[in-house]
Amino acid sequence: MNLADFCRAIPKTELHVHFTGAVPLETLLALAERNGIELPPHDDPEELYARGENFDRVLRTLKLVCRSLRTPDDFRDAVYATQRHAADAGVRYREMFWNPTDHWTIGDIGYAASVDGMIAGLRDAEADFGIAGRLIPSIDRESSPELGYEMVEAAVAHPRDETVGIGMDYMETGHPPEKFWKAYRLAGERGLKRTAHAGEFGEPARNVETALDLLGCERIDHGYTVLDAPDLLKRCEDEAIVFTIVPTNSYYNRTLKGQDFAKVHPIAAMARTQLKIMPNSDDPPLHHTDPANAHAAMVTTFGLPVDMLRGFVLNGIDGAWVDESVKRTWRSEWLADYDRLAAAVEK
Ligand SMILES: [Zn+2]
Repeated sequence: MNLADFCRAIPKTELHVHFTGAVPLETLLALAERNGIELPPHDDPEELYARGENFDRVLRTLKLVCRSLRTPDDFRDAVYATQRHAADAGVRYREMFWNPTDHWTIGDIGYAASVDGMIAGLRDAEADFGIAGRLIPSIDRESSPELGYEMVEAAVAHPRDETVGIGMDYMETGHPPEKFWKAYRLAGERGLKRTAHAGEFGEPARNVETALDLLGCERIDHGYTVLDAPDLLKRCEDEAIVFTIVPTNSYYNRTLKGQDFAKVHPIAAMARTQLKIMPNSDDPPLHHTDPANAHAAMVTTFGLPVDMLRGFVLNGIDGAWVDESVKRTWRSEWLADYDRLAAAVEK
């Protein structure tokens, strides 16, 4: 079995993926047509998902997806489609970020309607493809603290078994984690788990510390600059904080060039520490990747030994927001499958 097939076959979680960035192109085209949404000028639909290194262009695509999602059924169909892709990539459990406020302001659809449509998609995908899914309503950190707080209020006013915690995403530069301390405090008081994008875009390690200590995060998304702060790094190792990393992270693709790319990349450096990292696809169709490729990239891009994937699978289980009894079952069942597959992989 080659590496690509192995990475597809091994059981795994995905803990860092954004809903609007995960909607397959064919689904976007169908939704746009269904709702009469005009697409930007293009010769080939693939251009709409052209990766580029231009953050504005990615944002434009994400907003287009938002505009195309109008009804609970649209949300259901989009979630179902992306979960099918993830199941094809061997994901058995996936937590997905989504920004409810984008859908209020761009799509004019309220929290309850969107979350219930998404949950219908998760449940149908679980029944059909065996992939379990959970949702993470996420704060758009470029918006105001008041809107972030309002989003958490909506999440606690409409509790669902599938909405297990909150996150925070979009551009970290100029929008440090402390901006949303109040929204996170409310989430913590109401029993929601917490994670945040921090230490991305070269932003200071202090943001990772703030996310842990002020916001009460249990996981960190990205977190690369933790490497700049030895004491904090040691603490994260000791406390077994799970870092959800993204091998296709475009910030480092833009800023690190040349042959040494893989060696100097913070993901390669993190893999040399005791940090609990696990790879994710982030915005899979936009990055032209999927969760299986994200695992393969740890070997092909960063030169890590195939055997390290076993640890990443375990870290993904450790970081999942499910009961400890579920994790125990997964550890025994998934690792048995993993070990059987590992015996057949070419190294
Ligand atoms: Zn992300």
